[in-house]
Amino acid sequence: MNIEGLILDIDGVISRGRKPIEKALEGYRLIKELGIKTVFVSNNSTRSRRIMFERFEQFGLDVGEDELIIATHATAVHISRENGESRVFTTGEDGLKEELLNLGHEIVDYREAEYLVVGSNRGINFDIFTRALRLALNDEIRYVAVNPDRVFPAEDGPIPGTGLIIGALYWMTGRQPDVVVGKPSRIIIDQAIEKLGVRREKVAIVGDQIDIDIMAGKNAGIKSILVMSGVTDEENYEEKVKETGVEPDYIFRDLNELAQSLRSEK
Ligand SMILES: [Mg+2]
Repeated sequence: MNIEGLILDIDGVISRGRKPIEKALEGYRLIKELGIKTVFVSNNSTRSRRIMFERFEQFGLDVGEDELIIATHATAVHISRENGESRVFTTGEDGLKEELLNLGHEIVDYREAEYLVVGSNRGINFDIFTRALRLALNDEIRYVAVNPDRVFPAEDGPIPGTGLIIGALYWMTGRQPDVVVGKPSRIIIDQAIEKLGVRREKVAIVGDQIDIDIMAGKNAGIKSILVMSGVTDEENYEEKVKETGVEPDYIFRDLNELAQSLRSEK
């Protein structure tokens, strides 16, 4: 496979919700032993990186500051690169605000905003929607979505993703985000490749969802690896490939099987 860097999805690859996938933890350690660089990429739009590091620690994984990109943080970085420190109105929760503030952006009410940043919010209400609506109706406002996730697979069943807000704004205004940061967008993948510091020909993305992870790999022009430890299985694989028109370059049962294969190449 000729791989020196891996971009790893979290849910369905290293864990299922709060529960780690034991085989995957083994695989992760082996990948590190082989000297392959890794970065975790998460589409989460409500958490800050701090919260994610706590989760890794519970799994007994040693993940460094430089080995995690989360869509909240990637959004703040993207806005800085586009426009420098900016005035932002966001629908999002504290985790997203924390990341925006960390990079010097100012959280303002809609009348002062240059950016509308849409992230999921479990306390979304009529008032927030009203403000977001007024911004979406203004063409001069740059509209950025943290991720395009329609639903989020919680442990007790699906819950609304950022799609709740993107969908409502679209229905009200006909407008879609100008920029989407999270997978399958290449924006977050390009930031991950930068972090790895590996030439893109030698980078692969590993994930459990064809329409998100494998599609992100295609959009960014890197190799893609599907693991069958999450939402994709033998039964829905063909259907997903047909639906999306993309296919992974490699398929493994789980992260451990991928790690074994990488070891046999060395
Ligand atoms: Mg996943």
